[in-house]
Amino acid sequence: MRRLVVGHLFPDYLNIYADRGNIAVLSARAAWRGYELEVRPLGAGAEIQRGEHDLFYVGGGQDREQALIAPELAALGPALHEAFEAGAAFLAVCGGYQLLGHFYRDQSGEELPGIGLLPLHTVAGSRRMIGDVLLECELEPGSPRTLAGFENHAGRTILDQDAQPLGRVVAGFGNDGDSGYEGCRAGRAIGTYLHGPLLPRNPWLADWLLAQAIAHQSGAPPTFEPLDDELEERAHKVSANRAETRGGRF
Ligand code: GLN
Repeated sequence: MRRLVVGHLFPDYLNIYADRGNIAVLSARAAWRGYELEVRPLGAGAEIQRGEHDLFYVGGGQDREQALIAPELAALGPALHEAFEAGAAFLAVCGGYQLLGHFYRDQSGEELPGIGLLPLHTVAGSRRMIGDVLLECELEPGSPRTLAGFENHAGRTILDQDAQPLGRVVAGFGNDGDSGYEGCRAGRAIGTYLHGPLLPRNPWLADWLLAQAIAHQSGAPPTFEPLDDELEERAHKVSANRAETRGGRF
């Protein structure tokens, strides 16, 4: 089998609401296309060789875990920027998403350093944004898709001028409960607040990320043969309906 290498950033600290399930989905869907997914944990002081990883993944975490690892993640920033510039793909969820921006000012008022890879910053508010969320996205022009998931964050994420959101909020809070947008997309990097985990109920995004990871190796994203995603689509519909009936509201 061909191989894809995933760098899993701080898996022992940033992994709440079953975010590890995203790796399980990427592994299965890669294998069904003839790729073995080799997942390499990356913690404090990790060596990141140029071109070594096709995709980086970082999950969510409470303020406490974020504070524990933020300086160590920031120290990996130059190598992660180099990987991003060389075409590696990224998926960052919630706490991990926040730390890929410029900074996260947590609920204690402490400003945690980000790596500045995504054009945004985050400031924690007093009321948490909790609930089901539904987005409209268009990662590829002309092919609008929806994303459904669950959010639970105090952070209000503000995108830089001209930064591209991941999607428009149909139901739920999104980045800050006010802008009407959620997440951030920069090239092959995706940041989002959607837990659940995200990928089992949004298989199209898992395939998009795998295609970007393959493009890191081969130069162009492949077009995959469709899989039988009947179960995944049912899970998506349940999540989307929940968002539309009880998406997060203050
Ligand atoms: N601690 C961050 C916040 O409260 C991120 C939470 C998370 O990863 N679910 O906004």
